[in-house]
Amino acid sequence: MRDIKSMTPEELGDALRALGQPPFRARQVFAWLHRGAASFEEMSDLPKDLRGELGRSFALSRPTVARKQVSREDGTVKYLWRLADGNCVETVLMGYRHGNTVCVSSQVGCLMGCAFCASTLGGKVRDLTAGEILDQVIFTQLDSGRPISNIVMMGIGEPLDNFDNVLRFLELVNRPEGLNIGMRHISLSTCGLVKKIDKLAEYGLQLTLSVSLHAPDDETRNALMPVNRSVGVDKLLETCRRYFEKTGRRISFEYAMIDGVNDSDAQADLLARRLAGTGSHVNLIPLNHVEESPLKPSRRVRAFQRRLEERGINVTVRRRLGGDIDASCGQLRRKAREEMEGQGGKGQ
Ligand code: SAH
Repeated sequence: MRDIKSMTPEELGDALRALGQPPFRARQVFAWLHRGAASFEEMSDLPKDLRGELGRSFALSRPTVARKQVSREDGTVKYLWRLADGNCVETVLMGYRHGNTVCVSSQVGCLMGCAFCASTLGGKVRDLTAGEILDQVIFTQLDSGRPISNIVMMGIGEPLDNFDNVLRFLELVNRPEGLNIGMRHISLSTCGLVKKIDKLAEYGLQLTLSVSLHAPDDETRNALMPVNRSVGVDKLLETCRRYFEKTGRRISFEYAMIDGVNDSDAQADLLARRLAGTGSHVNLIPLNHVEESPLKPSRRVRAFQRRLEERGINVTVRRRLGGDIDASCGQLRRKAREEMEGQGGKGQ
């Protein structure tokens, strides 16, 4: 059965026309879905027959809260959602002065194998549908009662490895008939899949593209991020320049600071040289410690920041939110799985 929440208003219109319905029904159904209706029965302004017909023709599911943690430090909320097939993904809700931001996952697990990241430890299980990515926004908003104004695609998974569903999600969440979140309020983070960055540029979206760089030299980046081995930093930065020329949107580079690995003065200097004149922005992320990993947080974040600034680079240091609840993604899903496997004997 077709997943109705992944459909655009136009696709819904076609499907409803085939059922003999007038055009305004599609807008009604779309609005119900995006407000989080859990069943067709709830859609009280639709004729009863139509509700029955929709129930027989389309799949409609909603995620349930498997775990929820609220930070006592700053009100950050972390959800572990259980999807219709039993898989779980994480979503984090963060409050900033300019509004509430939700960090969504795009896949169950991740293929990319970055050395510092908890999300990739068990590999990739599957892509999320557009509707499942959207559900994280809809149900986080409903459950928390906090209106969401910004979205970052920085949760579990590599969004550009699930390109079509992610693009469809962006279209859906942007629609005025639905959540109406503007592209300039959305950031998408990628480990640097160059062909997909070029493909994304074709759409000219006004979102913010963040590229996880984490090292300015191939030796270090190859060791941290397997994706670099076939591309290299040069080609990645060239692709980023092309993206900027095509979309007019400056790329933001993420750089997780790892003790003794990517935090030397020489690496700061090389990074500054490579980004010179691009107007790019660097976001330094204090490393979140992952139990399974020997990598440790750097103690040189401020020194590294100053050195980049002295060389003309715009730098911010990511504020750490939800430190008391493992707010970095991937960790809650792993913990919950381990606990469930512990209770139920062997898991996979
Ligand atoms: N696949 C996308 C989204 C991943 S998560 C990407 O690679 O960009 C968003 C950011 O968190 C990425 O920059 C990622 O490299 C970073 N990250 C992953 N694990 C981390 C950790 N343990 N500490 C700090 N940042 C981490």
